[in-house]
Amino acid sequence: MTRTTCPYCGVGCGVIATPSAKGVRIAGDPEHPANRGRLCVKGTALGETLATGGRLLAPRTFGQEKGWGETLDLIAARFSAVIAEHGPDAVAFYVSGQLLTEDYYVANKLMKGFIGSANIDTNSRLCMASSVAGHRRAFGTDTVPGQYEDLEQADLVVLVGSNLAWCHPVLHQRLMAAKSARPGLKIVVIDPRRTATCEGADLHLPLAPGADAHLFNLLLAHLADTGRADPAFLRHVSGLEEALTAARTSTPETTGLDPADLQTFLDLWAATEKVVTVYSQGINQSETGTDKVNAILNCHLATGRIGRPGMGPFSVTGQPNAMGGREVGGLANMLACHLEIDNPAHRDAVATFWAAPKMAAKPGLKAVEMFRAVEEGRIKALWVMHSNPAVTMPEADRVARAIAGCDFTVVSDLWAETDTARLADVLLPATGWGEKSGTVTNSERCISRQRAFLPTPGQARPDWWALAQVAQRMGFSGFDWQGPAEIFDEYCALSGVAGALGSDFDISGLVGTDYDTLPPTHWPQAAQKGGRFFGTGQFHTPDRRARMIPVTARLPEPLGAAHPFRLNTGRIRDQWHTMTRTGQSPRLAAHLGEPFLELHPEDAARLSLAAADLAEVTNSHGRALLRVMISDRVAPGHPFAPMHWTGETAPSGRIDALVTARTDPVSGQPASKSAAVAIRPF
Ligand code: SF4
Repeated sequence: MTRTTCPYCGVGCGVIATPSAKGVRIAGDPEHPANRGRLCVKGTALGETLATGGRLLAPRTFGQEKGWGETLDLIAARFSAVIAEHGPDAVAFYVSGQLLTEDYYVANKLMKGFIGSANIDTNSRLCMASSVAGHRRAFGTDTVPGQYEDLEQADLVVLVGSNLAWCHPVLHQRLMAAKSARPGLKIVVIDPRRTATCEGADLHLPLAPGADAHLFNLLLAHLADTGRADPAFLRHVSGLEEALTAARTSTPETTGLDPADLQTFLDLWAATEKVVTVYSQGINQSETGTDKVNAILNCHLATGRIGRPGMGPFSVTGQPNAMGGREVGGLANMLACHLEIDNPAHRDAVATFWAAPKMAAKPGLKAVEMFRAVEEGRIKALWVMHSNPAVTMPEADRVARAIAGCDFTVVSDLWAETDTARLADVLLPATGWGEKSGTVTNSERCISRQRAFLPTPGQARPDWWALAQVAQRMGFSGFDWQGPAEIFDEYCALSGVAGALGSDFDISGLVGTDYDTLPPTHWPQAAQKGGRFFGTGQFHTPDRRARMIPVTARLPEPLGAAHPFRLNTGRIRDQWHTMTRTGQSPRLAAHLGEPFLELHPEDAARLSLAAADLAEVTNSHGRALLRVMISDRVAPGHPFAPMHWTGETAPSGRIDALVTARTDPVSGQPASKSAAVAIRPF
């Protein structure tokens, strides 16, 4: 029996895996603080997704199986040659929230400290970069204030842009159990769609798409007008008047809500001290995602409802290690341990710690910019790890063409036949869940071990090892770890350097810890006993005060006649990303078995589409053929399609081929939930 952590969503549930002759038995870990023994259907099906058929089992270069040594030599030589001829910014790593923290650490150290570029970005850019940017603007640091138990201790939980029931199921189970035990706990869901999460809610507000900042601006004005601002806490906050002035430009009509429902929400939020506002991709994946985040944070800061039991804003992350990636510096605009790449003192401290010969001096290219640079030939060598950008990036067809045209592309993955792997010059066989060891951090800042319990298939190797081997072949020292425990130890020691510079991310107390038996550990470690951030009004800005940000809310661009539908994209309950693992389980496929287009009955009638027909969805970027599902859960003009399917044959669900690569100007996160499309019968 092995204690490990689920590899899917950011809830980060503890799993007990017990291999036997019949397969691997999976159970929830009753001792893990995230799930206390619970698992969702994806978690319980983990044992059905471990077959190694179709796995990439040996390195391949230009279509031929080769040994590791020869392949690593080639990668090091090609990256070194590009850097020598074109400079360090001509290479890039595109990494993933599927990486373990130790893998992330090595990739970050190699790129930022030794290659001398910050061109390392992660698919988490598509998931929660706007939360990172909003946190940093308001708090001076990217730190989630609360913990999961705040949802259970609150008297009001507001879920905005979050289908928690499907996307973070165990956290939703915990919330529903708390409501069952204490029916006075009120739940409000704010979402243009009537999702499964609405079923357990007291109130659903079908907000006009993109109007979230308007709604929270109205709330801020209401809080001020009804005397709910907290003068004592506001001593620790700047910018109230400017934020209020901007907030008062929002009008109730922009929300599209029934006036009585809107008033109910405003009064309920104002009257309830213990309020948690949970938000996710519906907020983040927007051209104004950072402003939306700050509009939410403004309301909590104005009332001091933050960092105390049962209250605070709460960003829930999508991937198992999106938070670990944020902490370890996996974003192109951050250093490790919440240090800042544009701060010379921070750069110098990290360079000294690493004995880095060539520290990156400026932020690198964020995901969308990175693939534009690949397209334009400015990036000539690219290493993609555990991600499938040829199908998941906005304007995915264009990104696929860019990767195909790149001078040299390396892909590390479990599978040889992903859309991106098929375009690579070099394929590296990576170890997967159950085969690799390391740590992940979940949405409530809990660091958990993933532990190996299966033999390594073929020649698969951990990502940290492949990266370290390439680094050594490029002539760099400081990459000679014997295992992930040594990397984790170095990372913890670096966090002590960061702590001395004022970073709140300091886990140096874990230096020398027994890695094998490391239990789930919240940071800061005082939080193990219920500690939270910011409740005492200590922030990480230069003046130690939180910043309320003036938000002039904007709605999405109006639609034109050629593309009159606004396509919303998202996850379904039983699949994960591009289904390379969950797609192996017939049980999971039984939920929703093919790509679909959820269409309002009025739209379906207007388009002469019946249930189960095929609809062709197009715009200037791409095309998808989707099975029609008629439902009034979506609003007229605002269909929904899931993001998991990748195939080319009908029904085909390459949804991100249709998403325009427009990004939030602060966070660089793409607007994945508002593609302008045309729809017609196929
Ligand atoms: Fe895994 Fe998330 Fe389900 Fe927990 S809720 S079992 S972490 S997919």
